[in-house]
Amino acid sequence: MQSLAESLRYPWETPPAPDQVIELAPGVLWVRLKLPFQLNHVNIYLLADGDGWTMIDSGFGNEESIAAWTTLFEGPLAHVKITRLIVTHSHPDHVGLAGWITERFGCTLYMSQVEYLQSVYHQNRGTEDRKMAQRLFFRRHGMDESLTDMLLGRGQDYLKRVSVLPPSYRRISHGDEISIGTRRFKVITGGGHALDQVMLYCATDKLFISADQVLSKISPNVSVWAVEPDQNSLGEYLASLASLTTTLPYDVLVLPGHGVPFYGLKTRIKQLADHHEERCGLIAAACQHASKTSAELVPVVFHKRPLDPHQMGFAAGELIAHVNYMLVEGRLTVDPQTDGILRFRAT
Ligand SMILES: [Zn+2]
Repeated sequence: MQSLAESLRYPWETPPAPDQVIELAPGVLWVRLKLPFQLNHVNIYLLADGDGWTMIDSGFGNEESIAAWTTLFEGPLAHVKITRLIVTHSHPDHVGLAGWITERFGCTLYMSQVEYLQSVYHQNRGTEDRKMAQRLFFRRHGMDESLTDMLLGRGQDYLKRVSVLPPSYRRISHGDEISIGTRRFKVITGGGHALDQVMLYCATDKLFISADQVLSKISPNVSVWAVEPDQNSLGEYLASLASLTTTLPYDVLVLPGHGVPFYGLKTRIKQLADHHEERCGLIAAACQHASKTSAELVPVVFHKRPLDPHQMGFAAGELIAHVNYMLVEGRLTVDPQTDGILRFRAT
């Protein structure tokens, strides 16, 4: 039986409305911005930092988010001057308004080196060569041309939704200790959802800003794309979860990038790891008697509801992440074929 410390609890079931701010602890504010996807929001946290405030993530780079910030900075956040922006990772719902925020407040952007460079890459990746590489990658995984067209259209549009990135930044790295106001935070980075996503842990106040690595109610996307076709992102993700389990205590308040703050970190981590293992089990069973392509495995794993193009793009990348992980773990092998399409068989 689980002890109280291990059970999942959500002290704030109702998130802040678009024009509201919730104080989670002294000097810790929670703001929520809308996103134009099925995942319809992103959380931003503000930490009291002397005379100013440190902002964690910036929101999606569209006019609606700028309007929402403007309303907040003229209303409940009128007293807040942002003096430092920390962006956890390069996805557009987090880094999207980094340029706008740093310009408005004349503050500095802090990121991990890999995530800053990945943001630069996202901003410049729409070349024909890159699109062709992604097309060939999907084709190799058995996706047909019409699906590939749809996925490529989505990807380009999604990743471009950022304001111009600040031309310089300050690097934060795994193991760094940073002071934010009276609090000391340890920088923890992890792969899987992004390449080197930043999380922040304050031992004294037992606060854990988990970014998108550990979310309260959904499983973070863990994908593989053409830029690194053999990447073991799921292996990296599971290793990061395992390391969080061994290094952090049970009773931290987790502040995630989406969803709501919660207690029960280790229980949630176990749920996430079990979820991926369940998917691996479905893939292994489907590849037991006949070899399958990733395209054929998508409906085996994502069968619960129809997917829109945005979700289909993530589903394809996520399926390939499971396949690559299972290849590394020796649970799948590639069936030798001559047509250039990858087919997998359970070992
Ligand atoms: Zn996110």
